[in-house]
Amino acid sequence: MNKFDVSIFRKHFPLLDKKVNNRPLVYFDNGATTQKPAVVIATEVEVYEKFNANVHRASHTLSAKATSAFEDARIEVQRFIKAKHLDEVIWTSGTTAGINLIAQSWGHENLQPGDEILLSHAEHHANIVPWQMIAEKKGAIIKVLPLTSSGVIDENLLDNYFNVKTKIVSFSHISNVIGKVNPIKRIISLAKKYKAITVVDGAQACAHLSLNMESLDCDFYVFSAHKMFGPTGVGVLYGRRELLEAMPPYQGGGEMIKSVSFNGTTFDKLPFKFEAGTPNYAGVIAFAASIKFINSFGLVKLAEYEQQLTKYCYEKLTQIKLVEFVAEGKPDIGVISFTVRGSHNHDIASGLDANGIALRSGHHCAMPLMEYLKLTGCIRVSLAAYNTFSEVDFFIEKLKLLIQSTDENPDNIIFTEKVTGQVSHSDNEMEMIERFNQLKGWDSRHREIMLLGKTLDRMDKNLCNNTSLIQGCESNAWLYGSKNPQGEFFFRCDSDAKVIRGLMVIILAAFQNMTSQQILMFDNHAYFDELGLTQHLSPSRNNGVKAIVEKIRMLATQV
Ligand code: PMP
Repeated sequence: MNKFDVSIFRKHFPLLDKKVNNRPLVYFDNGATTQKPAVVIATEVEVYEKFNANVHRASHTLSAKATSAFEDARIEVQRFIKAKHLDEVIWTSGTTAGINLIAQSWGHENLQPGDEILLSHAEHHANIVPWQMIAEKKGAIIKVLPLTSSGVIDENLLDNYFNVKTKIVSFSHISNVIGKVNPIKRIISLAKKYKAITVVDGAQACAHLSLNMESLDCDFYVFSAHKMFGPTGVGVLYGRRELLEAMPPYQGGGEMIKSVSFNGTTFDKLPFKFEAGTPNYAGVIAFAASIKFINSFGLVKLAEYEQQLTKYCYEKLTQIKLVEFVAEGKPDIGVISFTVRGSHNHDIASGLDANGIALRSGHHCAMPLMEYLKLTGCIRVSLAAYNTFSEVDFFIEKLKLLIQSTDENPDNIIFTEKVTGQVSHSDNEMEMIERFNQLKGWDSRHREIMLLGKTLDRMDKNLCNNTSLIQGCESNAWLYGSKNPQGEFFFRCDSDAKVIRGLMVIILAAFQNMTSQQILMFDNHAYFDELGLTQHLSPSRNNGVKAIVEKIRMLATQV
């Protein structure tokens, strides 16, 4: 096979040569989802354009064609994960759905009060919440495996956690924050000793490791197509045949039955027993195209290139003094998580976004891990084989600039005027609109938001409490309101993220000194449109804005 050439590989992904915020897109959020190659997009379109028909049902030609492509995709997955039997491959809507299926089917059937489920501190919420739900129903107990300083499950402490009551061990092959391979062989062999079942969350591993279900010898393995250049809404549950055969169906409906009568229903054989309803057959067929696409380059070749890129990026990051990695040592795949001392992770992420660099900040759906690491959140770079060394250089350069600019040097503050004073709300609002209308592009608007953030007075620490806490804002944020005898409100607010502080200044420019009636009638969507901000704010920032405005409205009806 030829040497891997990233420039050729990249060309397959139409979104990668687009601009975001007027800058060439640098997509470093592959742990959340990967971009899709043209062949996957075309395959999904082809299904709908050329042979769309429901699978397994009708006796007409189109349905036969769709069914055969759908079942061929199952064979493709069986080969990709080296499962012994074809009927061990069950289609789901994703990793989350797979874990819920196991918890609700196997867990419901087998768990007894006092039984124990082992998870680890590094699990994604998808591998925690389904277990909490079934544990509560069945009176089972969840125990949490500790991690080493390098962030993997601590093998040396495993013996303390296994006992005869251990029924399920469910853990990620690779955590979506830590990026390192867990000691999977050792965990599986211990589980076997105690006759516990093993559930492996392969969401992060599936795109980077060659999988072999037979040699891995786990009981269940779940993953999502969208993490491996495939479509969203498609996933795989691999399960050992004997276990799947003994498990009751998770959902009932069409497709999963042999016969239905009001005197009783019989269920179909594997894998259909677990595939109630119309499946996402177009997605499944497109998923097979993504596997063929990966195979045409060679998963090992892609992974080798990712290794070199990860090492390069990691080493560059180690050279930035204020960067602190969430765990010791270079990750095994291109998932690198860190914080920047003195900067909020959302401020870094939104500053990079203004430069066209997409990466993730926050808790990464792993709130218990953040708590374990004593972090409020972190920044995650997650790489794929289409990312380049020059993208890493660009990211490092912008990160360094951002870190420099977040110091408290007053020379960096262009806009110093305080806008939260006691003037008419409409003056402030108009001034804000004029200010933003003079700015061109998201980059300069983003800079202005950050500068505004610096102008907001810090709120008294005593006022930053549960009462003033803004629910639904991903960063810590507080808002406190008081009313003068004329019925006008004065708000004070604060946040640990500069971008939220900036947005607060903008919001207060409109709401400060309003009466409760004016507050309730104010159209904040139109205001943000006029500022030219609506289309630029990320979903989490938009949620932040919504949460601040909701808190203001709530206070206006209560104070
Ligand atoms: N587990 C891990 C380790 C993940 O990274 C993810 C996706 N971020 C999930 C589970 C959930 O996957 P999905 O949303 O595709 O169901």
